[in-house]
Amino acid sequence: MESVCIGVDVGGTNLRFALVDQGGAVLSRVSEPTETVTAPAPFVARLQGRVQQLQREALARGVRVAGVGIGVAGLVSGEGAVLSSVNLPALQGVNLGAELSRALGVPVLVLNDANACAVGEQRFGAGKGYRSWLMLTIGTGVGAGLILDGRLWTGANGLAGELGHLTVEPEGRPCGCGNRGCLEQYTFATAISAGNDSAAAVARRAVSGDAAAVARFEGAGRYLGIAVAGVLNLLNLEAVVLGGGVSESFELLAPAMRREICSRTLALPGAAACVVKGALGPDAGVLGAAQAAFDAEKISSRSHLS
Ligand SMILES: [Zn+2]
Repeated sequence: MESVCIGVDVGGTNLRFALVDQGGAVLSRVSEPTETVTAPAPFVARLQGRVQQLQREALARGVRVAGVGIGVAGLVSGEGAVLSSVNLPALQGVNLGAELSRALGVPVLVLNDANACAVGEQRFGAGKGYRSWLMLTIGTGVGAGLILDGRLWTGANGLAGELGHLTVEPEGRPCGCGNRGCLEQYTFATAISAGNDSAAAVARRAVSGDAAAVARFEGAGRYLGIAVAGVLNLLNLEAVVLGGGVSESFELLAPAMRREICSRTLALPGAAACVVKGALGPDAGVLGAAQAAFDAEKISSRSHLS
């Protein structure tokens, strides 16, 4: 029986679920607004219900669900616990992996949502041609996933990639993390939005030539460039791939970002890196989460054999 996996993307704005085959094709999908999460139990039950809906669908198609991968906006431990999440504080301390795998009867892997996007773009999207590159997701927050020499780098404790909390203004705006002047304070969706306008509305005005709206994106692109220039000097990467909702406005962000990278990197590592738009759009997270579940299943079935 063919194996498929279910990829889940738990974002601050949307919940996405997809039944995905090994080639990265989406066989079925469900998506809904995240809404305010006030307590973990009803939220876990909601995730469980949607995943079971896709499990039933898999059964009807004659395929077997080998595992579930869940990308969550926040810090996730290697054991599948949500250590902290600015957008979903009610999930703090919840071991989503353990709770859901018990309820669903299949292995459940939990990872950071930007890391899931990095895996998705690496296998099926804009990262395919590169060995070492940085995934940046810009939406409700700023996330990053680092692929080094073909492998996702998650750091000593699984917590690497918090580019959104790199200092870009030493005395800048206070951030929820306790620092001030973090990149996220200058680039995420609400930093670009003005008054009652969403980032998407500001983007529409910028495209139609509104100078103030263009300046907002240029400012965000500039701060992204400052942070990324430091990363490029440190790691000599081949590419930076932009994903997440705000990256729909790639053409508005990228020129200022490139300018800043050129002016702040050493000539060679700066010139070696391209800034490109993600190829998978809002599917990057579910495809990557499903792929991470496939990979985990292969590793565990290999270890059972040996
Ligand atoms: Zn911060």
